[in-house]
Amino acid sequence: MTRMIPHFIGGTAVESSGGRVADVFEPSTGAVQARVPLATADEVRAVIDNAEAAQPEWAATNPQKRARVLMKFIELVHRDRDELARLLSSEHGKTLEDAKGDIQRGIEVIEFCIGAPHLLKGEYSTGAGAGIDVYSMRQPLGVVAGITPFNFPAMIPLWKAGPALAAGNAFVLKPSERDPSVPVRLAELFIEAGLPAGVFNVVHGDKEAVDTILTDPRVRAVGFVGSTPIAEYIYATAAAHGKRAQCFGGAKNHLIVMPDADLDQVVDALIGSGYGSAGERCMAISVAVPVGDEIADALAARLTERVRELKVGPSLADDVDYGPLVTRAAVERVEGYIQQGIDEGATLLADGRGFTVEGHEDGFYLGPTLFDHVTTDMAIYREEIFGPVLVIARAPDYEHALAMASDHEYGNGVAIFTRDGDAARDFAARVNVGMVGVNVPIPVPIAYFTFGGWKNSGFGDLNQHGADAFRFYTKTKTVTSRWPSGILRQAQAESGGASFVIPTMH
Ligand code: NAD
Repeated sequence: MTRMIPHFIGGTAVESSGGRVADVFEPSTGAVQARVPLATADEVRAVIDNAEAAQPEWAATNPQKRARVLMKFIELVHRDRDELARLLSSEHGKTLEDAKGDIQRGIEVIEFCIGAPHLLKGEYSTGAGAGIDVYSMRQPLGVVAGITPFNFPAMIPLWKAGPALAAGNAFVLKPSERDPSVPVRLAELFIEAGLPAGVFNVVHGDKEAVDTILTDPRVRAVGFVGSTPIAEYIYATAAAHGKRAQCFGGAKNHLIVMPDADLDQVVDALIGSGYGSAGERCMAISVAVPVGDEIADALAARLTERVRELKVGPSLADDVDYGPLVTRAAVERVEGYIQQGIDEGATLLADGRGFTVEGHEDGFYLGPTLFDHVTTDMAIYREEIFGPVLVIARAPDYEHALAMASDHEYGNGVAIFTRDGDAARDFAARVNVGMVGVNVPIPVPIAYFTFGGWKNSGFGDLNQHGADAFRFYTKTKTVTSRWPSGILRQAQAESGGASFVIPTMH
């Protein structure tokens, strides 16, 4: 019988009573390996009930003790890392090593959150007026939620939950229905680490579950990561229901290759960041922009050679560069883009369509695909493909390359490869994109900086992780207090007592 993945509510695994389910595939073989329940609105409300009941006591637990739970959690994730990585890889299709990286990047944010006692400190001004002290404190919001995508089933839930929990909130996670098992295992580990029941909950589902989260007045904030149309919908709906929202969307990341760049380094960077994880990363490089035809011709020739050597196979096999895509529908979608690129007149240097792996003929594989002479009006340049497809869009000079990255509707990540410090500085300062790499192809900021794209890659005014995450998951209260001294009392008596003008520091 096919395994049914449970929700995780009130500290325990709970079977769904709703009836609607979705298939969870093993992308490497194409087989259905489990089913996931799609929660009803009533089930989601029951989860929020649990979170609401558990939150006050958690908020009242001192921040050092909350941080200790996270410390223990890190230890447990390391203990179970190999098992978690296998589970993640088998549902997502990324290689085992890449799955370990997914978990590790999540854990690095939890490590940052251990600094919660410091990060939650308020500000204090003594003697702001006669006998007046002013101080601020950061308080949790209450129940908050995370709605996360399939492509980082460990990292992104942990980016959302870590700061929220450390700040004293209760958390409702609605993970992707395509690879939902790892979030449930993380929930179990939180309990084992000492997190009180009900503080971290996982509810599976689709639009019905998401809409219930968005409209329930008890959920005070929503952190979302996924595709841009859904990010926009969630941002608008959450705001219309009085919630805070930070919603991160799709991407089309450019890598500018200056004529003086080290071509060996550039080719390695493009192969790794373009095809790693089958291109299913929001920070994948999907557009190479060589500046000038000389370096463009050399780059196209070198990439064509290297693409042929890539090893594509089952995600759990050794020695595989990348595995299958997440679903058959994802393969068909990407194949549609490849055909569109051909129809629009781009030069196809490597065609990944029809790719099969011996013994795994039903797996969701797609070979590496490379286009040259792609122009900014083509769909394969404008739209996010989210597959192992790299396009070369040539620029005549630096200003054109800069404008291409800046004018694109997405603004998640961008990179420049050059030996010229002046060009790199100018690029970093002027490019209209949220995260910039200089000779670094995937500039995902480390945990104690913040992560967030611009333009249609991010909606909301605070980024993920780093100090911003603590701002997002807390509200600031400011206290103005006066303990009247004898002198003040005397001054008040002389001025006649009550005052009818706005207090100032005059
Ligand atoms: P998706 O938008 O399909 O799904 C994301 C989440 O939204 C899932 O939990 C899903 O169940 C839910 N959802 C889907 N349709 C919905 C609807 N109609 N109403 C309400 N909720 C809905 O995204 P995905 O395919 O899981 O993930 C890939 C996308 O995520 C890519 O576009 C990628 O660029 C983006 N992404 C962005 C970042 C970032 O930080 N900017 C990071 C990772 C992934």
